[in-house]
Amino acid sequence: MRPFTYTRPAELAAAWAELGPDAMYIAGGTNLVDLMKSGVATPAHVVDIGRLPLTGIEVDPSTDTLRIGALVPNSDLAAHPVVRERLPVLAEALLSGASPQLRNLATLGGNLMQRTRCGYFRDLAMPCNKRRPGTGCAATDGDHHRHAVLGTSEHCLATHPSDLAPALLALDAVVRIDGPAGPRTEPIEAFHLPPGATPERETTLAHGELITGVDVPLTALGAHSHYLKVSERASFAFALCSAAVALDVHEGTVRAARIVLGGVATTPWRAYAAEAALLGGPPGTAAFARAGEAATEGARPLRDNVYKVELIRRVVARALTTLEGDRG
Ligand code: SF4
Repeated sequence: MRPFTYTRPAELAAAWAELGPDAMYIAGGTNLVDLMKSGVATPAHVVDIGRLPLTGIEVDPSTDTLRIGALVPNSDLAAHPVVRERLPVLAEALLSGASPQLRNLATLGGNLMQRTRCGYFRDLAMPCNKRRPGTGCAATDGDHHRHAVLGTSEHCLATHPSDLAPALLALDAVVRIDGPAGPRTEPIEAFHLPPGATPERETTLAHGELITGVDVPLTALGAHSHYLKVSERASFAFALCSAAVALDVHEGTVRAARIVLGGVATTPWRAYAAEAALLGGPPGTAAFARAGEAATEGARPLRDNVYKVELIRRVVARALTTLEGDRG
């Protein structure tokens, strides 16, 4: 590991001031420490933001919004009564990720900032446009059976690994950001960037900016939601395909729907065509199968990940079926 200096400021402004051009923020450290050990991340200075006052979870009654601090551990968020009762897709997504020990350390903001699990990204001997722009993509002709089929470019097809992010996208969450240029907010849908020609740029954060929190509206849609994850092992594995789904059904007709895919796309992927397939009609097996088919719109599989297209169909249909079954 490259030697580095370390500071632990207690205020936001100090954190920005200490983030020089060759520095990185660290919070729970569940991702960055691994990358530093393997030589993928080599900051000269690490700014530990763990002391910043970003650990609150509170309901804003004026907007009926859950305001979550960026440093809230995933385990605390999953156990919060408002999340359990009014945002089931969020609790289920959090509990499907990693192990209990990691969930105690990993933070909300860190989860949204985590890097891809593409093996070539972590192998310094292999070409990787995300790690070293312009060197090529070893996954295109190599092992890409876990890689993305949606949102890919010729430069990168790595999946976004988060379980939390698809759930937050299904809930229309908004990311709160602060930095030297002042505070701003951004819908989570715009926060993660597709790889395009610059796969090394993964979010809209400018250097020095950090996530201070996430706001989640508490709606009827969110209250009727579900997260389904399919992975190679039942625990401590990243999704091969997941679906965060939410439905608002009134008098037998779908009035609103959210269908967001994880594990199959380069960013958390909102399947608009699948949502449109449900709107205005009755929920049920036929409609859910149509939604699953529509969710594959735009898929561009390669040699070894064609199976993910069928997986999308089935995971979406099953997630919706489970959700409707929950209505009793
Ligand atoms: Fe690198 Fe992306 Fe290619 Fe993986 S898929 S080797 S992260 S460029």
